[in-house]
Amino acid sequence: MNIRIGVACAALAGALAGCAQQPVQTSAPDLLTLDTHVDIPLDYMREPRYDVGGDSALKVDLGKMERGGLDGAFFIIYVGQGPLTEAGYADAVAQAERKYSAIALMLEKYPDRIRLATTPTQIRENQAHGLLSAMIGIENPYSLGHDLSRLDTAHARGARYVGLTHVGNNAVCSSANPDTEAGEPAHNSAQDPGMSEFGRALVARANALGMMVDVSHASDKCVLDAIAASRAPVFASHSSARGLVDVPRNLPDDLLRAIADDGGVVQAVAYYEFVKHDPARQAAEKALQQEIAREAGAGEFDWDVHGELPALAAGMARIEREHPLATLQEYVDHIDYMVELVGIDHVGIASDFDGGGEVTGWMDASESPNVTAELRKRGYSDSDIARLWGGNLLRVWQAAGDAADAGPGAP
Ligand SMILES: [Zn+2]
Repeated sequence: MNIRIGVACAALAGALAGCAQQPVQTSAPDLLTLDTHVDIPLDYMREPRYDVGGDSALKVDLGKMERGGLDGAFFIIYVGQGPLTEAGYADAVAQAERKYSAIALMLEKYPDRIRLATTPTQIRENQAHGLLSAMIGIENPYSLGHDLSRLDTAHARGARYVGLTHVGNNAVCSSANPDTEAGEPAHNSAQDPGMSEFGRALVARANALGMMVDVSHASDKCVLDAIAASRAPVFASHSSARGLVDVPRNLPDDLLRAIADDGGVVQAVAYYEFVKHDPARQAAEKALQQEIAREAGAGEFDWDVHGELPALAAGMARIEREHPLATLQEYVDHIDYMVELVGIDHVGIASDFDGGGEVTGWMDASESPNVTAELRKRGYSDSDIARLWGGNLLRVWQAAGDAADAGPGAP
């Protein structure tokens, strides 16, 4: 989740002729394709349009995964940052609970199509049985409510990675996007606090459980702190290259190298603002949102209230014509850049679908074969493509499990 634009864009995708391309080929049968970051709305599975068994409003549902040959996805327990108070934590815990139970509903309702995977072996078994795999990742451990025992509970429910932070600092780590209006120090300032003692305890607990530590959204300082604290390689579940697009959410060259040197992997993200620098489009979207809020008599734009107004869809169609979305080719440029810098073993693929991710050519899970086709066009071998689409991630996942088995005294 980056910003809550996914739902409107999902509804919009069908209306924009330029947005959707037909998949050009399906995956090879032995290729395992995994997406490490797929968001779910709060009413996932509870509203008919968010029921993944049918023709849903989501960019990732079972039909789109099946048609696109996407074997598995990490579905995300995301909670936005709120106050570090008892009430704030209680609310975050409740929101996370709603999402865990929604994923459970999906698994109960469609056992013949998708199954939970809590180990790399289970993903392969599911694939062999013709089933999709659902994995679970945590974005923002604020939802643990400052209680490490909730990480054990999350693990027991199937969560296999924990992201350290989101927008705004939390009790674990400083964010790549701190809330400076609330007085938090600027990213990369001397006052940036990095990782707290609680954060180090969280990383140690994740290591003990065999959960991967996800550094996407963390500040640069916190990424280095996480690498130092973790006994297992860390990974970035959805981040692209700052060397191509200079935004704090992308990773700079030195951190890409540090993650690779540690044995980790960075999953390049197809979130359009991180793929292509386009301040004019951003300004136009902001102006549209302000206009819609004004016309609705609201103080500010709210996706939950205004996200499906026809005026928004019409305005976004105009913006799309004037400032075209980033493309699949521009997305794969980030993969090329990172592979060139740190090697084929340390790069992977993430959509951030239903959390704002989309690029022309990869608008939803059904278009995943376009990614494979573009990689092939650029000369990546089948073995390279298999590493990018999941092989590298599974290596890091396995390493997290090995570190847990070895225990804290291990080197
Ligand atoms: Zn995110």
